[in-house]
Amino acid sequence: MTDEGAPAQRPVRWSRRGWLSAAGAGLMGSAVTGDARARRVGSENEQAARGQGAPLPLAEFAPKSMLHANETRIARARFPVVDFHTHVSRRRAQRPAVPAAELVKTMDVVNVRTMVNLTGGTGDELAATIATFDRPFPRRFLSMTEPAWGRAGEAGYAAWQADEIARAKATGAVGVKILKTLGLFLRDGGPRGTLVRVDDARFDPMWDACGRLDLPVAIHVGDPEAFFTPIDRFNERYEELSAHPDWSFHGRDFPPLAEILSARDRVFARHPRTTFVALHVGHWAENLEAVGRMLDRFSNVHVEIGARVGELGRQPRASRRFFEKYQDRVLFGTDAIPLGTETPQQVFGEDLYRIYYRFLETEDEYFDYAPAPVPPQGRWRIYGLGLPDQILRKVYHQNAERVLGTKLVGG
Ligand SMILES: [Zn+2]
Repeated sequence: MTDEGAPAQRPVRWSRRGWLSAAGAGLMGSAVTGDARARRVGSENEQAARGQGAPLPLAEFAPKSMLHANETRIARARFPVVDFHTHVSRRRAQRPAVPAAELVKTMDVVNVRTMVNLTGGTGDELAATIATFDRPFPRRFLSMTEPAWGRAGEAGYAAWQADEIARAKATGAVGVKILKTLGLFLRDGGPRGTLVRVDDARFDPMWDACGRLDLPVAIHVGDPEAFFTPIDRFNERYEELSAHPDWSFHGRDFPPLAEILSARDRVFARHPRTTFVALHVGHWAENLEAVGRMLDRFSNVHVEIGARVGELGRQPRASRRFFEKYQDRVLFGTDAIPLGTETPQQVFGEDLYRIYYRFLETEDEYFDYAPAPVPPQGRWRIYGLGLPDQILRKVYHQNAERVLGTKLVGG
């Protein structure tokens, strides 16, 4: 899950189906809830009372690795970083944004030159975002605009939206962000209506306008593959989905992930003069071969790695080959959000950046992909790629500068 905020408190949701015995291990699986970890201390006492070898709820299982693995601390990135995927101005936010000056302090510590703020909003909201972040801190913040989805059902929307993109550029937007609203939430005819397809023709003028205006499109459609399969004991992200069942796109009228990505690919094909950045490793980091085939087909497409270090790092050999082959097409990004703790893999701060740097720069083995006591996107750990300087420079900033058409580092 990314982008959409989630309430801090979720109801406890113990699922009967979640309980299963693991023979020999004395282990039992259970749904994990948002506050499950907070109860761990009490649970430890309970477990002591149950005695050795007694069933243990999965939520309470927190094994400590006995591996004597090397830990390389990368306090700052080796080269200046453009974080292409952040959300520093929160729309629909009941919570205040973190002041830009505060963000800059952390950016300086970890060598982040620029944060690209994808969700800058539209109209007056976009103008306010740019006045708050981009203008006072030139080259440190760049904001993108978004389509006005709420008007997509109105007559004349297609032409209006294309014009609105031009107005957003005049306001100062550097690109257009597509949330997974398109393909998974936006419906014609109200909440019970038909899902609007990613390649719906009414958006064609908008995609063309982006190409004409040299505004890259940061596109996020789809979600992790596990979110499209049942929330059951075979789901590798069972804990996450149990805590956030509304993140699941399994069942109902949701199309399979592959269908959403095919519709997206038809958009890429129809608009070859528009530059797209497919966020989250093209939304299919679980299948780098497929992402590679997509990049081979469409020279107008790049990918970005935000919130997918967990996926890339659990397949370090395939990832390393991917970074080597597509070194001119991969952009650094984190999907960072300055506030909140709901998705630890996205919480802006020094810890988050250092994990990405360790993954890209070192050959360390078996470390956490998120600053959290339990891996939040599946229970595994990751391995560093140890990329050479030439690739690091491209991924850290050169590719983003080319896509944005702006020199951000140096000078
Ligand atoms: Zn995002």
